[in-house]
Amino acid sequence: KKMNYEPVIGLEVHAQLKTKTKIFCSCSTAFGAPPNTHTCPVCLGMPGVLPVLNIKVVEYALCMGLATNCTINRESRFARKNYFYPDLPKGYQISQYELPIAENGFIEIDINGHQKRIGITRIHMEEDAGKLSHDPDRPLSKVDFNRTGVPLIEIVSEPDIRTPEEAGAYLRHLRSIVRYLGISDGNMEEGSFRCDANISIRPKGSQTLGTRTEIKNLNSFKHVENALYFEIDRQKEILEDGDHVVQETRLWDPVQNKSISMRGKEEAHDYRYFPDPDLLPLVIDDDWIESIRKKLPELPNEKKKRFMDEYGLPSYDAEFLTSSHELADYFEECVTQFADPKPVSNWIMGSLLGLLNAQGKPITESPISPGNLAQLLQLIDESIISGKIAKTVFDDMAQTGKAPKEIVEQKGLVQVTDESAIKAVIVKVLEACSKEVEDYKNGKTKLFGFFVGQVMKETKGKANPKIVNEILKDLLKR
Ligand code: ADP
Ligand code: MG
Ligand code: ZN
Repeated sequence: KKMNYEPVIGLEVHAQLKTKTKIFCSCSTAFGAPPNTHTCPVCLGMPGVLPVLNIKVVEYALCMGLATNCTINRESRFARKNYFYPDLPKGYQISQYELPIAENGFIEIDINGHQKRIGITRIHMEEDAGKLSHDPDRPLSKVDFNRTGVPLIEIVSEPDIRTPEEAGAYLRHLRSIVRYLGISDGNMEEGSFRCDANISIRPKGSQTLGTRTEIKNLNSFKHVENALYFEIDRQKEILEDGDHVVQETRLWDPVQNKSISMRGKEEAHDYRYFPDPDLLPLVIDDDWIESIRKKLPELPNEKKKRFMDEYGLPSYDAEFLTSSHELADYFEECVTQFADPKPVSNWIMGSLLGLLNAQGKPITESPISPGNLAQLLQLIDESIISGKIAKTVFDDMAQTGKAPKEIVEQKGLVQVTDESAIKAVIVKVLEACSKEVEDYKNGKTKLFGFFVGQVMKETKGKANPKIVNEILKDLLKR
């Protein structure tokens, strides 16, 4: 008999912090420099050097801790995580272990309009390792230490996530928080926001956790979701065959769309963690915490709630528009100039985002300014153009960046609302279609749409549809 299984998922996210300099030395963190030019004895792990903590890293970690409702530890510690790898010159990574800077928090994510709380186990600071590249043709590997010592925060979730979609929503929300805070680019494809996914399954209703596997190499939201779907099926098959899941680290192969075993899962004691004797315990006082708390920007969920209260937007729209603060700013800029929020939201979520996706541009590079979009909605609202014409004006704006008023004037697109002019066209159309008129009068009322179409064709779409309908109905009654 087949069991009903429930997935249990916990995510570890590494976010690269946007500081100018590294975490324990003053080398630049800028990306793309020639290999090994942003290095010094400290980040190269030379003997006798001492790390000096970058205060900006602590500030950023505090921001994230507060934004995710964590308890901030008044005293935290740096620890050495020991392992050998060619991209790690010191032979250990400075991280935090027993006493991280922040723990026991949560964020609330939107799942089909419902709020779900996902626990944050801990947030800690650590240094990044270097970058290895392997020559495909020769037995040769190269190492670039520009990235060693670039600051990261690791955000570890509780195993509260139940589906691949929830995992995606959690990651997107976390990313929008780091971007709102301005502490990380949050770019998965470029590696400044990296995720390891832990997953196990258990019989539905069971309270104990199953054996987990950890999947690495997930550099897009799609890969995370696909890898989780794959792993759920793989683990189900194993359990259904009466076998047991092996705790291990697996690698996601997005080309073959499958995960492959990488290594047995190392236990924490394999790393021989111990407090770093070169760094003092990190003490954070209440004043520091309060000064950071005061500087926090309005966060995604607060903004979403305000958009619903202040603009009367549905939850879906508010969630969408606050997914990035740039998008939210664009919306608010429009609304100050055209004060009907729902149509503004519709145009942004529909035509504008469609356009930006097609052009591969972020909202900050929109060819249509918020002022021009507001002006377009004003023209529709004042019946100067019809909704249909507005679409063609929009396309023109996208091409030329011109103001809609200018386009409407230049192309003579002003809507015809003159009743006698419209009536004249309708009379002409009805005369030309005497056969259809007869059919209509004999009960084929579906032809009404046909007449409207003919009138619109005759007026190049410029006749006010409401007036067309009224006059047509009136004339056909006779
Ligand atoms: P490690 O460094 O060994 O991977 P961490 O504590 O940093 O351990 O991360 C463990 C992650 O795995 C957390 O996100 C946690 O929620 C999740 N996790 C732990 N046990 C399970 C389990 N049985 N099934 C799914 N996820 C789990
Ligand atoms: Mg892990
Ligand atoms: Zn350095």
